[in-house]
Amino acid sequence: MNYRIAGLHHITAIATSVQRNYEFYTKLLGLRLVKKTVNMDDPGAYHLYYGNKTGDPGTILSILPWENIGPGYEGTGMATEISFSVPPGSLEAWKERLQQFNPRTGDKNEGFGEEVLHCSDPDGLKFNLVVPGREDARQGWHGGEVPEAMAVKGLHSISLMVQDTAQTAQILTGIFGYTLAQRKGNKSRFVTDAAMDANIIDLVEMPDGPIGYVAGGTVHHVSFRVNSDEALTIFRGRLLSQGLSITPKTDVTYFSSFYFREPGGALFELASDKPGLTVDETVEELGSQLKLPARLEYMRNRLEGILPPLSR
Ligand code: ZN
Repeated sequence: MNYRIAGLHHITAIATSVQRNYEFYTKLLGLRLVKKTVNMDDPGAYHLYYGNKTGDPGTILSILPWENIGPGYEGTGMATEISFSVPPGSLEAWKERLQQFNPRTGDKNEGFGEEVLHCSDPDGLKFNLVVPGREDARQGWHGGEVPEAMAVKGLHSISLMVQDTAQTAQILTGIFGYTLAQRKGNKSRFVTDAAMDANIIDLVEMPDGPIGYVAGGTVHHVSFRVNSDEALTIFRGRLLSQGLSITPKTDVTYFSSFYFREPGGALFELASDKPGLTVDETVEELGSQLKLPARLEYMRNRLEGILPPLSR
């Protein structure tokens, strides 16, 4: 059996106000809230998942909101820019839409031969909308205010800022099966052919760049997908043999996963596709109720009293 890393599973970022975050990603950006649950390490805080209609791996941005967390700052050893894939011809309309929220939304420009629009979310987290160089056959969610012709199709790529490209590249190429596709100045683009979409990692090298600080408005971790539990175990073994320290494999209801810090400093996760976000809600119901893992159900009343209100 040939086990492969099939691109990005999800990206997880930290926000402050949950209400503001929800409105930005669902109403302005048009993603679907596909899961409302709690942070497993801090059940008094939410964990929200945004994605496409069915919350497929490769379309998911998950958010850990803490109302009182201070701001983080960008630097080396972390993921700094999330890119979403959008339909060809939609960037002008996106620019108009996003400028109403953030006047500093950039002009369209070219990145690695693709059209890119730069923006940031209400917590200052940078993101890009990209028209991919090849057709993205995924269907974006258009059940909200964003029409189908503009709808975000899912994740396109993630950009990491590193002091030394070679260190992180060693994991990407040596273990994850990515190859160096393009280099432009201090930016290197790594791609895997094990997935059609969400299959790009960009490394931006800043040899003297200060180390970033992960808190509000920054990426918490980058999650890569594998198609089975067995593949997780295989990759965990391969990473252990590199001398990396890795968390135990854990069942987190929607997938099994483990974490490790890649040599460049960013937190990586490997996650299985199954069982997926529809394990405890139908496609129609996704995101409509607060879902708790069985071990926290006994605390439901208490948690519902602690969690900040989130109005739809
Ligand atoms: Zn994760």
